[in-house]
This record gives sequence, C-alpha cells and structure tokens, in this order.
Amino acid sequence: MPSQRLSPDVIDLPKGWVPALMRGLRGRCPRCGEAALFRAWLKPVDRCPHCKQDWSVQQADDFPAYIGIFVVGHLLAPVVIAMIGTFGMSAWLTLAIILPVAVVMLLVMLQQTKGGVIGFLWWHGIGAFKQERRAPEDKP
Ligand SMILES: [Zn+2]
Repeated sequence: MPSQRLSPDVIDLPKGWVPALMRGLRGRCPRCGEAALFRAWLKPVDRCPHCKQDWSVQQADDFPAYIGIFVVGHLLAPVVIAMIGTFGMSAWLTLAIILPVAVVMLLVMLQQTKGGVIGFLWWHGIGAFKQERRAPEDKP
C-alpha cells in the first residue's frame, strides 16, 4: 500500500528528542528529516511525502503561540525597561516601537516553534503519535 509508512529500518529516525525537535524547528519532517513539514505557513503536510508519517493527527494547538509569547516577552522586557528607565522615553513611544517589533518577532518564530513542538510531541508519542525508536546499533 503506497500510503503505508516506511519502516524505521529504511529511514533515519532521530537519535533523541532534541534532534527530532531540531528537525521540526528547521521545518523538516521530524521522523525522516527528508521532506518539508509545512505545506503553508502554519499548515503541516497531511502526510510526509518521503516516509509517509501522518502529520494530520498532530495536536500542537496553541502551545507554539504560548512559547512564542514567553520567549518574546522575556527578550523584550529588558529592552522596555531600558527604553523607559535608562533613556527616559515615554510609555507611548516605547509602546509604539515595541508592539510592532514584538508582533514581527512572534510571526517570524511561530512556524519554527510549531515545527519544534510537533517534533517533540511525535518523539514522545503524545496524542495520536506512535512512539518509535532506532534499532540499537551493533557494536563491533
Ligand atoms: Zn518524513
């Protein structure tokens, strides 16, 4: 059956959750690393064209956005404090500068964050994902 997933014997499964997450961060399929994970900005492919992994079952939901808000907030908080405290800028001017910067930063990192979350969920078999591991390597 052509839609059947390729066996873990013939594809290069990641060695751990960090490589799986990194493949997702780069927008590659976390399972095989060979094909694109997204068909549109935040739309994952239904099925990996290379290893046939079903990505339609992913449940990243709002978690990538929460991660983005957390990271951008922590990166920009010291900037806001410096703009108001050190440089004496008004709160309105600070808001006028920081708000567009924060939105752009969030939009830029959202796809990578979603890819990383999908890779993490897949590696740990969370939701509808089935956990897979590499076969133990033979030691000489
Ligand atoms: Zn794949």
